[in-house]
Amino acid sequence: MSEPTLWKVAVKAPFPQLLTYSSDLPLVRGQKVLVPLGKRSADGVVIDREETAPTEFKLKSILSVEEEIPPLTPPQLQWALWISKYYHHSPGDVFSLFYPPLAKKGRSPAKDLFTKSVEEKKITLNAEQQQAVEAIDATKGFSTHLLWGVTGSGKTEVYIELIKRKLAEQQGSIVLVPEIALTPQLISRFREQLGDEMAVLHSDLTEREKTNQWWSVVDQKKRVLIGARSALFCPVPNLGLIIIDEEHEASYKQDESLRYHARDTAIVRAQYEKIPIVLGSATPSLETWKNVGDKKFHLHRLQQRAMTLHMPEIKIIDMTDSKHDLARESFLPSWLSTELYRELQINYQNGFQSALFLNRRGIAQTVFCQDCGFIYKCPNCDISLTLHGQSHLVCHYCDYSQELAKTCPECKVGAVKPLGLGTELVQEDLQKLFPLAKVLRVDRDEIDSRARLEEFIEQMEQGEVQFLVGTQMIAKGLDFEKLTLVGIVLADISFHIPDFRATERSYQLMTQVSGRSGRHHPGKVLIQTYKPDHPSLTYALTADTAGFLNQELIDRTELQYPPFARLACIKLSGNIQSKTDSLSHDLAQNLRGYITHKNLSVRLLGPAPAPLFKLRNRFRYQILLKSDSLPVLHEVLQYVSHLQSAYRELKVQIDMDPYNLM
Ligand code: ADP
Ligand code: ZN
Repeated sequence: MSEPTLWKVAVKAPFPQLLTYSSDLPLVRGQKVLVPLGKRSADGVVIDREETAPTEFKLKSILSVEEEIPPLTPPQLQWALWISKYYHHSPGDVFSLFYPPLAKKGRSPAKDLFTKSVEEKKITLNAEQQQAVEAIDATKGFSTHLLWGVTGSGKTEVYIELIKRKLAEQQGSIVLVPEIALTPQLISRFREQLGDEMAVLHSDLTEREKTNQWWSVVDQKKRVLIGARSALFCPVPNLGLIIIDEEHEASYKQDESLRYHARDTAIVRAQYEKIPIVLGSATPSLETWKNVGDKKFHLHRLQQRAMTLHMPEIKIIDMTDSKHDLARESFLPSWLSTELYRELQINYQNGFQSALFLNRRGIAQTVFCQDCGFIYKCPNCDISLTLHGQSHLVCHYCDYSQELAKTCPECKVGAVKPLGLGTELVQEDLQKLFPLAKVLRVDRDEIDSRARLEEFIEQMEQGEVQFLVGTQMIAKGLDFEKLTLVGIVLADISFHIPDFRATERSYQLMTQVSGRSGRHHPGKVLIQTYKPDHPSLTYALTADTAGFLNQELIDRTELQYPPFARLACIKLSGNIQSKTDSLSHDLAQNLRGYITHKNLSVRLLGPAPAPLFKLRNRFRYQILLKSDSLPVLHEVLQYVSHLQSAYRELKVQIDMDPYNLM
């Protein structure tokens, strides 16, 4: 018998290093295996040969090989290890994202996930689209492309044509879209032109469905995968192209566990696979815009809407004027200007659909006592409760709920009053103004499943609905022929968030919501605000995206925020406030010492209580690290990883390139 070979294995367990095992099985790199770990067994992936046996612990041997799963390829292995290093996360955890939740065997024949049977559709690309396709297709190897085109300019058709060309070369493609935009409408558009080549992955599938879809791709029965963020990890054989639609979307950043950014991570995958990647957006992110400016990304523009007449007419309504408007009808609710009301009326009379957008659910944001000022707060989170319906109070973070009392629970005499505005109230008010109309609300409370979403789209398409009231669920991707008027109820909500990306997000939101209007008929957008000169509105007014991005870049340079400096956030939390506080300070002190001692060019801010200080009964602190140098930042984070074990009572999480600073 030959000597057993030593192998380095990435084991699914929360530590950063690869472990060494022995085996006399004929193994190859990238194979999925089962290994012993303490008293249990764990999944692992074989990374490489190892020359020397470990001295600090007893050598164990690999238990078995998962024969049915094909080994990962060298580019996939390198990519996964890069993710592990960059996001300071256990490599075994990263690899676990590559595999389906269930075993292949025992599967029923892959059920078709598509509701419609669709006819084939033929579209001839216009000159701009054709030019983008040819330019992207002409590149060899790795390259990153920004496809910048207003909503409705036909980006999707460009993606489809590129995918078709890859199929002709027997190559597969991955298309990522934000979860919320992965509508049956969008899927059937791909299906109309790509037919049986389409597989889909999203969070609403059962584990069996996910497993079947995964295998249909890995067995090369289907070569085009469309999915939300995590579909990026599917080991598509012979991958030829990656597309990231709506590349600016913050939801591409995962906010827990492995905090990866799907766009950034996809670019690195394309680099290892030596293939092109296309980022599509109407409102590119500042990060991407800077890369275009630095000539790292190729820019392709679609300047015209593909089918429709023109972009909608946008108007800003100053609500501070509206308050003093003498002509204002007294029956109007305080959130509605006379002007928007008139437009809603006209649109209704003409038989078109209107949508009102408000990024806040419920009836009211807080309920407070008019006598003593008491505010209903969540006992688990340091957040006010939101009123739903007549008397139901809900925490939007942990789902805690309670009933509203008639008198204040604190002073026992005062009357409690709702304060603020939510989609539920807008719907109620609108229904009163248009008693015969059908007013539909689309938010997380109403649309809680994919089936409900499909039902809603059906109702809109059938013309059964005259008014739509919704949160950002209606901002993305939807396309209704008769929707010609969009009203933004209170734009200010999006720019008062304490985050350096607030202005950027607000601009994106205004543009996206506007893009829902007048896709097939001339449309109008009315934006109600108390701050009509906010840059996210003034640039949206003229649809001057380049102007906005260039101005915002200047502001970011001055404040040394990304994309100029790099950020990392160290999130610290614990169950006991005093302990969490002192340990957080201690860790920060320790880090400061390290940075000074090593003379590293990193700025350390904090520890500061997180804006949402108490969440789900945990007390939260943050340390922010800022640096011009990525390697230096990583060096500090490496040190944080090592420190972790010394702070057992503190949960320490590293968030590289953070998007959520709440
Ligand atoms: P985007 O993805 O940029 O928002 P879409 O790809 O959804 O734009 O295109 C908007 C609409 O225009 C769709 O209904 C699409 O079918 C249609 N369309 C796109 N390109 C063409 C074309 N070359 N000829 C005819 N219709 C087109
Ligand atoms: Zn709560």
